[in-house]
Amino acid sequence: GAEVVLAGRSNVGKSTLMRELTGHTFDTGQRPGVTREPNHYDWTGPDFVLTDLPGFGYMKGVPDEVREQIKTDVVRYIEANADAILVGILVVDGKSVIDIIDRHSGPDEIPHDVELFHFLRDVGIPPVVAVNKMDKVDDRDERLNELCDRLGLHPPWQQWQETIAPISAKRGSIGPLTEAVREHLHEAERDDLFQFF
Ligand code: GDP
Repeated sequence: GAEVVLAGRSNVGKSTLMRELTGHTFDTGQRPGVTREPNHYDWTGPDFVLTDLPGFGYMKGVPDEVREQIKTDVVRYIEANADAILVGILVVDGKSVIDIIDRHSGPDEIPHDVELFHFLRDVGIPPVVAVNKMDKVDDRDERLNELCDRLGLHPPWQQWQETIAPISAKRGSIGPLTEAVREHLHEAERDDLFQFF
């Protein structure tokens, strides 16, 4: 079946977004590191499965080797299921993402978010970056342009609306994300139809 996955660092608002997308309730603010396995949910009827992948990156009280293992598991899951995955939603915190990316950029360091973005593309999954917590961001356009720059996309961000989706999960404003995902699903459907001709 067709699958959409959600990935992101812990505390970016992934559970809050999952609740908005599915109507299920999730433990937000749950002890980080507890959700270790991919969780599957029906989405837009039984047509799509939405998979919540474990949050990666820094988690208070979680040892380095466990963090590394979670990231490896996320990458392996995506790799193993790449054929079925039609869209990869990468959730980031709009307020802190640039600082985090810049802090982890170096001669032999690629920030997790940037790495995952390129990894999704490399395995043929269109990435959609859900830039969450935009309710806390003042310099919206500037911030989104900076994010484009860090991901290797030419600003202005407005020309990447199928890839960059500013949202506020907490406020329930996720329209740009559902629009972007819908576009990709339609494209995938078209590609599927073409196989018959
Ligand atoms: P997860 O660890 O990625 O699943 O993150 P959660 O969904 O548990 O959210 C982490 C924290 O961010 C909680 O305190 C949420 O209330 C808060 N949060 C989530 N989405 C938003 C948002 O759109 N805006 C703001 N300001 N806070 C948010």
